[in-house]
Amino acid sequence: PARTLVLVKPDGVARGLVGEVISRLEAKGLRLVAVELRTLSRETAEEHYAEHREKPFFGSLVEFITGGPLVALVAEGPRAVEAFRALAGATDPVKAAPGTIRGDFALEVQNNIVHGSDSDESAAREIALFFPHLG
Ligand code: ATP
Repeated sequence: PARTLVLVKPDGVARGLVGEVISRLEAKGLRLVAVELRTLSRETAEEHYAEHREKPFFGSLVEFITGGPLVALVAEGPRAVEAFRALAGATDPVKAAPGTIRGDFALEVQNNIVHGSDSDESAAREIALFFPHLG
């Protein structure tokens, strides 16, 4: 089955939403393959967000994502990437539909609680970055 990389970002961990996120993805039918609490190094954060290197918010995003512990997890199931992105909702939490994680719990585009891989190719790259043993 397909896999996706999910992050409960430092804002989500600080607000005690780890269980909520895991409950929702498990309730949907996705299965946990790996879970780890960790604080990202600047190097790992910059690699994870390499596609945003030229964006004006890149510096702030790296500060935010390295600013406290996050929970990285791998979830598995049919169309896992698409399934989790539907649970997460739109990147801008104000536009995210109520009932989605971002729609229910966030207000700011940077501090939007979760990350989910945006394609099967990104998922493979991100899973290799966070969980090298899961090749
Ligand atoms: P993610 O990759 O985290 O799942 P996404 O694919 O919905 O989010 P991207 O456009 O890839 O969104 O942006 C990556 C992350 O960068 C966002 O989740 C958010 O935390 C941050 N971000 C995106 N746009 C902005 C912005 N305009 N200002 C500040 N932070 C932003």
